Amino acid sequence: MNAPANRQWKLTARPVGLPKRTDFTYETAPAPELADGQILVRNHYISLDPAMRGWMNDVRSYVPPIGLGEVMRAGAVGEVVASRSPDWKEGDFAHGIFNMQDYAAADATAAQKIDPSLAPLPLYLSALGMPGMTAYFGLLDVGNPQPGQTVVVSAASGAVGALVGQIAKIKGARAVGLAGGPEKCRYVTEQLGFDACIDYKNENIGRGLSAACPKGIDVYFDNVGGEILDLCLARITRKARVIICGAISQYNNTEPVAGPKNYLSLLVNNARMEGFVVFNYANRYAEGVRDMGTWLHQGRLKSKEDIVNGLETFPETLLKLFTGENFGKLMIKAI
Ligand code: NAP
Repeated sequence: MNAPANRQWKLTARPVGLPKRTDFTYETAPAPELADGQILVRNHYISLDPAMRGWMNDVRSYVPPIGLGEVMRAGAVGEVVASRSPDWKEGDFAHGIFNMQDYAAADATAAQKIDPSLAPLPLYLSALGMPGMTAYFGLLDVGNPQPGQTVVVSAASGAVGALVGQIAKIKGARAVGLAGGPEKCRYVTEQLGFDACIDYKNENIGRGLSAACPKGIDVYFDNVGGEILDLCLARITRKARVIICGAISQYNNTEPVAGPKNYLSLLVNNARMEGFVVFNYANRYAEGVRDMGTWLHQGRLKSKEDIVNGLETFPETLLKLFTGENFGKLMIKAI
């Protein structure tokens, strides 16, 4: 039987500023042959993540950069359509780094089995997947919020931020979000149960933070960096924890990243600012999935996915993360 056609998005130029269509090449190749110990996965949903922008740069990071000519790295969930591993059979469902393409030949040991009868497939890329684990371990392990304390999170309607605020509430803390636009802010307070949300595109951010956090900020979960980080640093409490999860406002800079000006607030408050990479918690994901799954099942946690049809839309869909057009965990439906 002929190998099925495999559409692939390759990185063929290093973007300067926002990625452009011409930084990528869209090609069709035969689906790959399997080596012993590999599985062939037909991708159903492919994750789009702000981190992809960093992976395109030729710099040292927590993972190597994507090489020019390589298929764009991406997390995905899909169905096993062929297996040369005794642990996997056709019809199993898998989660892993299967990249921006229709078919991936993956090492069986690098893929995780998932059960679509327990949760819909997209959830394994959102609350039960990487963003969920980011919110869970970043907030609880690094942030350690206590009942009654105030947790602030930026990009609060997004994949990670929406979960951070909800977990904070489950743990008895106050949750304050920042999001772009009235519709997202209404969602954050009315649907997700945050105590307040500041529309950073239309409100005075400093005044909004002061009003929503009258006793100061005990935990700031930073997804955006830039001015919002500085305004939060200026309002932290004694022994506060500032979690550096991401800095999406800086990812497409052509100038050097804007560093925090108000960092001496850490000194005067005996506070801590700590960077965090979710993959360092891989050996504890089962714990996170168990708790997140329970809260979802109990209706205490909501997960929202923003699903775009068609692998061919990848370059335009990716940009939604940087314009704020995505509303929920952004992913492509490839089949
Ligand atoms: P997301 O929040 O679902 O989508 C990105 C959102 O960022 C946009 O919807 C937009 O929301 C906001 N945004 C874009 N440009 C902005 C700007 N200039 N200023 C302020 N907000 C801006 O994405 P996500 O997947 O949950 O990721 C959120 C952050 O977590 C990112 O920084 C990502 O790199 C980081 N992250 C880190 C780890 C880790 O291990 N450290 C893991 C996963 C994600 P608005 O419409 O509200 O502006």
